[in-house]
Amino acid sequence: MSEVAPVSPLVSVDTTLDPAGAGAVVVDPAEAWETGPALVASLSPSRAGDFMTCPLLYRFRVLDRIPEKPSQAAVRGTVVHQVLEDLFDLPAERRTVEQATSMLPAAWDLVQEQEVDVAAALFNSAEEAQTWLDSAVPLLESYFRLEDPTTLDPAEREMRVETTLDDGLVLRGFVDRLDRNAAGETRVVDYKTGKAPGEGYEQKALFQMRFYALVLWRATGVVPRLLQLLYLGNEQVLRYSPDESDLVATERKVKALWAAIQRAHETGDWRPSPSRLCDWCDHQVRCPAFGGTPPPLPGAARPGVVVEPLGTATAGPGTAG
Ligand code: SF4
Repeated sequence: MSEVAPVSPLVSVDTTLDPAGAGAVVVDPAEAWETGPALVASLSPSRAGDFMTCPLLYRFRVLDRIPEKPSQAAVRGTVVHQVLEDLFDLPAERRTVEQATSMLPAAWDLVQEQEVDVAAALFNSAEEAQTWLDSAVPLLESYFRLEDPTTLDPAEREMRVETTLDDGLVLRGFVDRLDRNAAGETRVVDYKTGKAPGEGYEQKALFQMRFYALVLWRATGVVPRLLQLLYLGNEQVLRYSPDESDLVATERKVKALWAAIQRAHETGDWRPSPSRLCDWCDHQVRCPAFGGTPPPLPGAARPGVVVEPLGTATAGPGTAG
């Protein structure tokens, strides 16, 4: 069986989208959103989900890049993910719940190194921060009731996956863990620190899994045997076994989604789509659905600027690798 294809570290981005207008720039695709107010032909499950939820939310995040406040729940999720990643550095017999719990402070330190102001943004005192960190323990205990990590030998952890479709659209994402059995079959595992969606609300989660399955299939030529989401918030597991026809349909859907994003870009029509998710949206103050006014679009994101697929752009000055 093919290994998961290594991700090309550098790609070029079309010059018309370079905000500096200084010729083709070379951008790590994982950071393309952070390099300037441009629309590049790439999608992750999160950004695709943003557009499906609300085109204006997608615009605020991808084009305007308006910072959002960190939330305690989201940062706790990052800390728990770090522990579950590091746990597999230990010999199998040391992967105990007590050991995992003892790794929480180091994981939190690491998050603070990467985001220096996060503690001040979230907490008023060290005691408050400690109470919050302690609230991650039940999530780790849930993990150990769902899986026995002493029996696992992951092939990959925190793996970046990426593929370029035939029309140049780049799909990418991060997979928490990839397991491979002796027959070479793969299982993708994603940890969720929230609760599993209720009946009738699984579509978003299923779309994310289909998206990952599509990326892995196109990157390696092999359909993953199983994808599973472990919901530590209420100890539920969502499983999905893809087949090729399902993934072909997913590819059509993703391409249609990208076409809709391009249409919004061409017309400037990033309309709000209010839903109960607005309760958690940081952008109500600038959202017309709540009486606000969006800021002017950044220059390169204005209607009429041509969007080229990443895969067809020509590397220019400054190309490396
Ligand atoms: S408040 Fe609601 S409608 Fe407005 S941008 Fe946020 S998610 Fe969209």
